[in-house]
Amino acid sequence: MFMNKKSILFKNNTIIYSILLIVFVTIIIFFNTYYFVGKFQNITDKLLQEKAVLVEDIIGIMIDDVNNIAEVEAEIIEISEKDDEILDISILQISEDNEKFHRIISIHEKKVDTADEINFLAWRNEEGVAILNQDHGERYWRVVKTIREGEEKVALIELKVSLLNSDKFIDAAIRQIYIVTVIALIILLLLIVNHMRMFQYVLKSNRLEELDEMKDSFIAMASHELKSPLTAIRGYAELLKDSLKQDDKIKESESMKENLRYINNIDISSQRLTALVEDILEVSRIEQGNLTMNITQINLTEIVTKTIEQLTNNAKKKGLKITSELGDKNILAQGDYGRVQQIIINLVSNAIKYTPEGSVRILTKEDKKNIYIIVEDTGMGISADSMKHLFSKFYRIKNEKTDKISGTGLGLWISRELARRMHGDLTVESMEGIGSHFILKLKKEA
Ligand code: ADP
Repeated sequence: MFMNKKSILFKNNTIIYSILLIVFVTIIIFFNTYYFVGKFQNITDKLLQEKAVLVEDIIGIMIDDVNNIAEVEAEIIEISEKDDEILDISILQISEDNEKFHRIISIHEKKVDTADEINFLAWRNEEGVAILNQDHGERYWRVVKTIREGEEKVALIELKVSLLNSDKFIDAAIRQIYIVTVIALIILLLLIVNHMRMFQYVLKSNRLEELDEMKDSFIAMASHELKSPLTAIRGYAELLKDSLKQDDKIKESESMKENLRYINNIDISSQRLTALVEDILEVSRIEQGNLTMNITQINLTEIVTKTIEQLTNNAKKKGLKITSELGDKNILAQGDYGRVQQIIINLVSNAIKYTPEGSVRILTKEDKKNIYIIVEDTGMGISADSMKHLFSKFYRIKNEKTDKISGTGLGLWISRELARRMHGDLTVESMEGIGSHFILKLKKEA
């Protein structure tokens, strides 16, 4: 199953492209968000550093006399209490030997001397020093600047500003990026699975199409192959019938009468089989697009007259009257002569087949663009429900009246397809128990 899916995956470029595209888009979104979060972190770091410098400047301005320790300390404590990001503020004075600094004021640090390099650096540097430190996982800015009275450096101010709040925010943002990426990946996986299913459906439908084509070619081939033996069977049955009929002595014998009946049955059955094979071959020709049409101007009056001549005997056998209202006037239309003849023969044969008593009438009507050949009968008619399926392949109305009537259920489907390929149509109007009108529409002009 897995191998199968794998091969499906690699056989189809569209799937690979769409997967690559989805992966690419997910990666881009991930890194883009990551980049912006990083940028945001840099900006907030910078802002906090500036804030520390600003606080220091303010304190520097506020302090009138560094040596008034109690007052300075009170002011520093007040400032630090207002801002929870300030971890510590210290004031340091350089020793007389310039070797160390005395921490004279501090909120949290011990007031011990220090010889920290950063402090000396800040003492020497006009701008002061700002470094990013970390203590127990908490990042903070340590900003050290000189305090001056006029031009003279009198002390150092050291400020520690925590980055905890902004770091917490950034951590939460990064966590969200991970979650969004995981969700995106899950969606991606689902899409891939879905694509896989879709592709399998496509494969299956391709396979079905192939099988359908194979079936069509098989039917075409089998029907074609059946034609020759069937012709032979019918030929021999005819021969046997004729020879038995010619010999009067044999004809009289009981056993020969029985044989004649059998031969007759063979003849009728092979006729039915021939009709079925012909119809199936016709269907397969239509479905495979192998139908040749030679559309020209044709004489409908001639076709209808010929059809009536051909089928009058069948009608008479059933005691049906068959008439045409076309008269002598040549009614012309656009179509393939043989195919139109085939349709009209089928419609008139059906009218005769499905009319137990009464008559069959052929007439024409016309409008600006079309000619309508209407085959009317006073037969069993068709129910509204059956009419919905009438032009489907192999559909036959099944009831006690149609039980003994043989047929393939393909004639109407073939006739409508042929009519449509000649830019016409075949429709029906019918009432059960009253009769039917089959209407063949053909174009007047090309
Ligand atoms: P077939 O006659 O070989 O069965 P058709 O495709 O020509 O196949 O017709 C399909 C079905 O339509 C027939 O089986 C019959 O039930 C119905 N039908 C066709 N023509 C008529 C008609 N003139 N009157 C009533 N029923 C008809």
